Formats: sequence, C-alpha cells, structure tokens
Amino acid sequence: MSTAALIVAAGRGSRASSPGSPPKQYSLLNGVSILRRTVLAFLNHPRISSVTVVIHADDDDLYMAAMKGLPAKLTMPLAGGTTRQDSVRLGLEGLVAQGHDAVLIHDAARPFVSEEVISGIIDALARAPGAIAALPVTDTLKEEAPGLLVARTISRDRLWRAQTPQGFRFNAILDAHRAAHTQKAGGMTDDAAIAEWAGLRVAIAPGSETNIKLTTIEDLAMAERRLQAETAYETRTATGFDVHRFTEGDHVWLGGVKIPHTQRLDGHSDADVVLHALTDALLGTIGDGDIGQHFPPSDPQWKGASSILFLKDAARRVTERGGRIVNVDMTILAEAPKIGPHRAAMQAVIGAALGLSADRIGIKATTNEGLGYIGRREGIAAMASATVTLPSTATD
Ligand code: MG
Repeated sequence: MSTAALIVAAGRGSRASSPGSPPKQYSLLNGVSILRRTVLAFLNHPRISSVTVVIHADDDDLYMAAMKGLPAKLTMPLAGGTTRQDSVRLGLEGLVAQGHDAVLIHDAARPFVSEEVISGIIDALARAPGAIAALPVTDTLKEEAPGLLVARTISRDRLWRAQTPQGFRFNAILDAHRAAHTQKAGGMTDDAAIAEWAGLRVAIAPGSETNIKLTTIEDLAMAERRLQAETAYETRTATGFDVHRFTEGDHVWLGGVKIPHTQRLDGHSDADVVLHALTDALLGTIGDGDIGQHFPPSDPQWKGASSILFLKDAARRVTERGGRIVNVDMTILAEAPKIGPHRAAMQAVIGAALGLSADRIGIKATTNEGLGYIGRREGIAAMASATVTLPSTATD
C-alpha cells in the first residue's frame, strides 16, 4: 500500500507568535524548526512513500530555508487556502496525480509524533476507511450554566481526544472533501469530521501524550525545555600557545588591549599573542585546525588586522556546531609590560567578543625569572585553554 503524508502548515499560528515574527511552525525548537521536525518524523518512517506540505502563499522562502537538504521523498509544497479545511482539500487535489492508496493528514504543530503512532494509523486503515490517533479523556467533564456555574457532569465514558495524524483511504477522503466543498459544509476542525459527515467509518488508534499540538508560546517554551533536557551535551577542553618577538615600536596589543611599551610585537596582524593563543584553544575544542589555517599570514587582507576578528571567527565556528563556551583562561609570559592594570580591560574586550562574563575569563601573567628568550625580553608568549559544551549527537 502506498501511503502519502500531507502536513498542514498553512496557518498563521497567531497564538504562538508575536506580530512580525514568522508563523509558529517555522520557529526553532532547540535549533531545528517545528515544521522540519514534523516533516522528518514522516520522512524517516519506512511505510510512508512521500511527504508533502501545504503552506501559506507568503511562506515560500521560510519553507525553502526550513527544508534545506531534505531528500526527494519530500515533494514540492502545495498552496493552502483560507481555512484548514480548504488547505487540506487543496492538498489532496495536489496529491491526486501521485496515485497513493492512502493519506495521513497531520498538523505541522505536532512535531513529536512517534513512529508507533504513525504505524498504528496505517494498521487501522485495514479495518476502516478512516483512522484517527486519539486518547481517552481522563479529566472529569463539566457543562457550564449561565454565570459560570456548573450545570452538570458529563460522563467521560467513550469520550476520546482526537489528535493527528488522521489516515484515510485516499479516494474516500478526497471525495468527502470535494462533497463538503460543493455543499458548503464548512467549519469542521478535523478531517475525521469530514469523513463522519460523508458517512465513512473512522477507527480509533492509539495517540500519545507526547504528541501534543504546540499552540501557545507556553507550549513552545515547554517543548524547548524538554528537548534541551533530552539533548546529551559533552564537555571539551583544548589549549593554545603563541609567541611573538619584539621589534621597534611603542606599544603592544595584548588581549585586545593596546598597551604603551618600549617595543612592539612583530607579526602580520596586530601580533596579539594572547588572542592568538585563545583563538587556537577555541578551534581546538572542535578540531577545526588553527589560526594560521583560517587566516594565512601570506594573505595580505590580514595585514595589521585586529586579532579580535580571528577570535570572533573561532567563536562563530563553535556556535554553529550548537556549542556554548563555558570559560576561557590565559597565561601571559612576559618580563614587561605589567598586565595587572589592564586585566579588566582585556576581560571586557574578550567578554564582548565571546559573550562571556568576566568571571569566565581568566587572565594571569608571569615573568620568566630572567630565563630564556622571554627572560631576555626577546618576545612575549601566551598560553590559553578553552572549555565548551557541545551536543553529543546531531539533532536532525
Ligand atoms: Mg601569532
């Protein structure tokens, strides 16, 4: 049996997004959009032959960005209508040419649908032309009387809460939607209601408490917390080292701060050994080469460049992998100048570049007791370490 998934994502979702922000199905949950998560649930299911999304005409760009890199099992999106019912009907019409035996219709705002729930619907289609995922009502139900008083208690026996996916034999639900459209039977809030209206039998299959519909901003926040708690993070630490020799000049750059001195450090950029060591430490946490690889000294565009550029680039590389910098620590080896008076300024510059508070930025200095090249005041060296947390597995 060939089964299509039709994801309904044409709504504006005004309850969960502020004016001017994208509709909620495009908002990110732990770095991955809700719609992409929903689509992936069906793309990854072995018994689903194709996945198609019904979108709002204004959302083409949002959609393309959200679906980047997904396989061809995801077919071109279809334009929806003004109501959910219209959108589903237009989606079904758009699928006719694909010739599927069955279709599972699903809300974009339910990204946590499981493989078991999807399988349950497909299985249930063997005993009825329609099937819904549903859960028994567990709360006691009250009917309201005028004055916000309780009129009576309604038995919850045989009452179910309908979720999606809702599956149907393709031609049966297409005919039902066409008939409802022709006869102007509107206002139905799910596809099972259309099927019932058309006289189709609809089976009940197991839903899931985790298959929630993300409706409000609070729902989104709760889902985000849940995903973060489920994501396994790992901690990584790496080090960096750099040394530059003195040459004629009147200042040195150390830790992003310009310090008057009797000499300057020689180098292609501003020769800030502290930021160079720190940049290498950050690159080390993600195994992404070193500063010389990303900013070759042979490249004239980095002549005299502020080393803050290099540091920010390394931080961006960490962030792009979902990483967060926990702390950084530096030791400067120099007979002079004195570092103490400039420590707070260095923490401020590095803190601004990395988004870290001063208590996460260690800056220490030591002389070399007159020993070796540092002791002979031939140059300045710096060591750095960085600690980051990264998701230990990809989220998509
Ligand atoms: Mg260097």
